[in-house]
Amino acid sequence: NQQILLKSRPVGEPKESDFALVETPIPEPGEGEVLNRTIYLSLDPYMRGRMSDDRESYASPAELGSVMVGGTVSQVVKSNHPQFWAGDFVLGYDGWQAYGVSKGETLRKLDPNQAPISYALGITGMPGMTAYFALLDIGQPQAGETVVVSAASGAVGSVAGQIAKLKGCRVVGVAGNEAKCDYVVKELGFDACINRKTQDLSSALKAACPNRIDVYFDNTAGSILEAVLQQINLGARIPLVGLISQYNAETPPPGPNLMPLLVKRALIKGFLVGDYQHRQAEFVNDVSKWLQEGKLKYKEDVVDGLENAPHAFIGLLQGRNFGKLIVKVSDD
Ligand code: NDP
Repeated sequence: NQQILLKSRPVGEPKESDFALVETPIPEPGEGEVLNRTIYLSLDPYMRGRMSDDRESYASPAELGSVMVGGTVSQVVKSNHPQFWAGDFVLGYDGWQAYGVSKGETLRKLDPNQAPISYALGITGMPGMTAYFALLDIGQPQAGETVVVSAASGAVGSVAGQIAKLKGCRVVGVAGNEAKCDYVVKELGFDACINRKTQDLSSALKAACPNRIDVYFDNTAGSILEAVLQQINLGARIPLVGLISQYNAETPPPGPNLMPLLVKRALIKGFLVGDYQHRQAEFVNDVSKWLQEGKLKYKEDVVDGLENAPHAFIGLLQGRNFGKLIVKVSDD
């Protein structure tokens, strides 16, 4: 059995020497298990996360010396599971090897008449499902809105952008070369595509998104996110799906690292108190009651005399105030 093992943890970009090709005997399936011959192996960005053990990722690290993990489309060779027969095509997770043994429960049977069996690793599999749910659940694209998609020609981005088109949006891709951009516009039907290697992102986004940006389907983070953020609309939504711009980084990128947001499915949402004006009574009632009941404490930092306001204000921005800073302008 031909297998590819993780030999060493890459520093920066993975090298071929981080992998080892070995020959081992073809395994025998046990009770309830199935022996598969791998036809297609999926290669996906998350595998970079598996190769390292020193960072937060949505993929837990692989053991050194173990077979690299990965989705596979295979043909069943031998089955000890009642639902599978030799000759069946299956989607599984056998990893980087020519033959794999899996528990029957972990396999999904594929119908080669429905779609090419390899599609189960892409558009009808994990990447397609990523595009579908991240776009529809978090992006919530509305007809007429503008959606920007990074890594637009890729497994996830190509599906996300096309679904956004189906929902009646203006869709703008970002991709890494002209051939990809051409494909994204001419074949996939995006309205425009920006070449991130040759175009200035900010001005290209401005030109391609005259009504600014309502949804950014983020596959990359980094400089594309930075440029998009400058042009989002009120109430924009940003599904943070991938941060591929930093997967090979040896040191964390400057500024906050957003990976924990993805891993913890955390929410960052802009807030403006003015939006809650209509609920002021609710707030005043609750807080006044909690104050009277001694459940809330409050501290004031009172500066005497209007003439001292400038100095006090400068101190506020330096942390010199302790509590709510107010100026006593005259006697009460
Ligand atoms: P793709 O088929 O899109 O291939 C990766 C693409 O990323 C490359 O072709 C390249 O496209 C782009 N890319 C690579 N390096 C950089 C960089 N430094 N800056 C900007 N773009 C870069 O891969 P997938 O569709 O499988 O994955 C896309 C993203 O979705 C990844 O970030 C992946 O981790 C994420 N993902 C997340 C899942 C989740 O559950 N959260 C599930 C599946 C995928 P180009 O050069 O054209 O820009």
